[in-house]
Amino acid sequence: MARIVQKYGGTSVGDVDRIKNVANRIKLVRDAGNELVVVVSARAGVTNELIARAKAITPLPSEREMDQLLAIGEQETIALTAMALHAIGVDAVSYTGAQAGIVTDKVHTKAKIKGIDAKALEKDLHRGKVIIVAGFQGTDQEGQTTTLGRGGSDLTAIALAAAIKADKCEIYTDVDGVYTADPRVVKDAKKLQEISYDEMLELASLGSKVMQTRSVEFAAKYGVVFEVRSSFNNNPGTIVKQEVAYMEKVMVRGVAVDKDQAKVVVSNIADKPGTAATVFRALADASINVDMIVQNVGRGGLANLTFTVPLSEKDKAVKALAPALKAVGGEATFDEKIAKLSVVGVGMKTHSGVAAALFEALAKAGVNLELISTSEIKISVVIAKDQADEAARVVHAAFGLDKL
Ligand code: ADP
Ligand code: ASP
Ligand code: MG
Repeated sequence: MARIVQKYGGTSVGDVDRIKNVANRIKLVRDAGNELVVVVSARAGVTNELIARAKAITPLPSEREMDQLLAIGEQETIALTAMALHAIGVDAVSYTGAQAGIVTDKVHTKAKIKGIDAKALEKDLHRGKVIIVAGFQGTDQEGQTTTLGRGGSDLTAIALAAAIKADKCEIYTDVDGVYTADPRVVKDAKKLQEISYDEMLELASLGSKVMQTRSVEFAAKYGVVFEVRSSFNNNPGTIVKQEVAYMEKVMVRGVAVDKDQAKVVVSNIADKPGTAATVFRALADASINVDMIVQNVGRGGLANLTFTVPLSEKDKAVKALAPALKAVGGEATFDEKIAKLSVVGVGMKTHSGVAAALFEALAKAGVNLELISTSEIKISVVIAKDQADEAARVVHAAFGLDKL
């Protein structure tokens, strides 16, 4: 008997038939004598639909009310999944995030988990029930509903696996593992048998939405080994863990593209100490994640700052920058027609020439580089959004990832 946490994503519970399919899969695992906690997402598209409705009312809805709204997507699927299990004779009970004891901070729409009080859940597990938990949601200490950021059901699953010391954590999605690039864009992308937390973390944070970034961070911190696999077949998936044997031999493990970014140019600001601090303090106070910051050489006492923000936070950034720019002068322009393309691999620590090979491949494909940033195990470039898919294919081939 093992204690297993499974998570089924939006496509896997996308309609009633798929929910029944998930219930059948759960029954097999339960009937084999295992203890089972199952995290489910909202049906595919529901969260986006709810966001669109809110934005049709106001561009900057109250974040507390957003959480009230978004939490209902997962609440639908937990109840339907429990019912589907009852219908095939499995004793199951659904839990909201709050009922599962998931306590977060107060940062609505991207709350961090502070702790999990799993007593109630453990009691029902001991009674032999399958527990169905709503992903993506929790409660702050005052009982306010919070959500964990887009893709947050992954985090619910991994945090629960850590809290109840599960023997296994399985993330079921609509592809059968983590690939060298998004398999929907790069047709000859290859499935990885295993990948290290570090590389998975970079791929996730750079746009490979197969795993939520914070869930990978959490897994690395608490040593939760997990497997990404498909709910539509029984193929082995990708194991994500600390050490991966063949890590050092490969320069580039994968290519990631993020189309949900906007480029911000703040021009003609005073070229003096404190200006950048004022601009980025305003963005930080609005909890906006800024990336790829470049400042040009000042001329005539004026300078330009360029950086990227998540597209979903653009309206918030416009609002946050207005008072700051009043203080330091200058104006902000936003470009949404960009994408960030990145190559990731721990092998980069010990190989040189990755940047040159990347830039050459993009040059050959006629792709202009607008911004560049590097770290020990990744190189990112900002390029035109309409060239991003083709660029991903070209770069994937240039590093031989199609031949793994
Ligand atoms: P879920 O709803 O199950 O959480 P997501 O849509 O969040 O699923 O994530 C799965 C999707 O991630 C896949 O359909 C795939 O298009 C995309 N994806 C992006 N990069 C990768 C990658 N490197 N490997 C696998 N899938 C990827
Ligand atoms: N339903 C949420 C989202 O679409 C959480 C998740 O699917 O993981 O972002
Ligand atoms: Mg997801």
